[in-house]
Amino acid sequence: TDTDATAARSHAKSKALAERAEAVFPGGVNSGTRRNGSPYAFADGRGGYLTDLDGNTYLDYHAAFGAMIIGHRAAEVDDAVRRSMSGVDLTGYGVSELEVQLGELVTSVLPSVEQTIIVNSGSEAVAYAIRLARAITGRKYLVKFQGGFHGWSDPVARNVISPKERAYGDDPITAGMLPDSWQSTLIAEFNDLESVRELFRTHPEQIAAVIMEPIPHNVGALVPTQEFVEGIRQLTTEQGALLIFDEVITGFRHAIGGYQEICGVTPDLTTYGKAMGNGYPVAGMGGRRDLMQHFDAAGGDVGLLGTFNGNPTSCAAAIATVSYLRDNPDFYTRTHALGERLRTGLREIMADKGIAAQVVGFGGTFSTYFLDGVVSGYRELLDNNAIASVQFHRRMIERGFLMIPLALKRNHISGSHTEADIDRTLEAMSDVLGDMRS
Ligand code: PLP
Repeated sequence: TDTDATAARSHAKSKALAERAEAVFPGGVNSGTRRNGSPYAFADGRGGYLTDLDGNTYLDYHAAFGAMIIGHRAAEVDDAVRRSMSGVDLTGYGVSELEVQLGELVTSVLPSVEQTIIVNSGSEAVAYAIRLARAITGRKYLVKFQGGFHGWSDPVARNVISPKERAYGDDPITAGMLPDSWQSTLIAEFNDLESVRELFRTHPEQIAAVIMEPIPHNVGALVPTQEFVEGIRQLTTEQGALLIFDEVITGFRHAIGGYQEICGVTPDLTTYGKAMGNGYPVAGMGGRRDLMQHFDAAGGDVGLLGTFNGNPTSCAAAIATVSYLRDNPDFYTRTHALGERLRTGLREIMADKGIAAQVVGFGGTFSTYFLDGVVSGYRELLDNNAIASVQFHRRMIERGFLMIPLALKRNHISGSHTEADIDRTLEAMSDVLGDMRS
């Protein structure tokens, strides 16, 4: 497969489909961040590769924003889904065997999760976590970190980095919300414990929860200091607020037990999703039994509803994916080593070419900040050259390497990527960055 081709690729067929889509979907897509230009549509995916409608191939680091963790058309997931089709379809009554198996599996691998609920998307998991935290504490405010993304629900739809990037005060991110719903969310700075302390001082006994991506991958990879995560844990406990780890990206990706396994800090509630289903819509939220008991329809005080929650197909996909990751711990050593190989190689290229950039990441993820100096929190990211970031990824896409064409966003190494893939990527990056300088 010639994915290194620099010759112009044809996009006629995928463009034609995009035009049909524009007639029926607002903006031609079903999620705002999918409107990216060519290629417009894919026809096939195998392992680490995607093929577009015109037959061009791409090494896939976008990975559906991180959902495709094993790779496309993973045999173990496809087989499990096929097998699930011989049992019950959706019933909306009681539980299914697959649902219970998934609950048992998730509670056995996520250190802080004694009980869980299974839903269909990360946004739903987050919305439930916030509702539960407010119900338990009887408090109104939520604290999130600048640049953190937690899905589309009202309380968290603010202070998300936008394609404009310098959207520090660009709030809220959507029309149609009641002011109170997003203004009840306070913003702190990542890796800055004092900024969280200050909010507890100015809102005494009013903060229900602090929600954090343990590694904010929505702005690349800000790795927390150990002091920071431990400090947040201690502070929330002292202040009677819940600590919510949003492990929708980090969960199952960096370790089978998520970042909480790596940092050894126990949140009260955890949200997870994306990678757990290798592409199927499935997510969850869990934590201590005494907290989760509020969802018990007999005697609990927090509503839990959802027609498709725990549906057999998604559960089958998630059982297969999570079991695969649990039973193949070399997945983590391999993807982490490939991540290191890519980051080291890209750093050398940047240095060779004299480009002011930071190559960051954790495990099998990598991101590039086009700026000078060291990044420890969100503020420094405001200096990122967003145009260069997007241009870098766009040019890599044109050469057959699919990356999220948004500033700061991470790229993902899946279980199907190889050393040869990484080396080929580095060669293409060297060419692209050379061209960008001239
Ligand atoms: N939380 C985090 C950390 C995310 O990155 C995302 C999605 O990107 C979500 C929550 C929302 O998940 P979903 O898109 O499945 O609703």
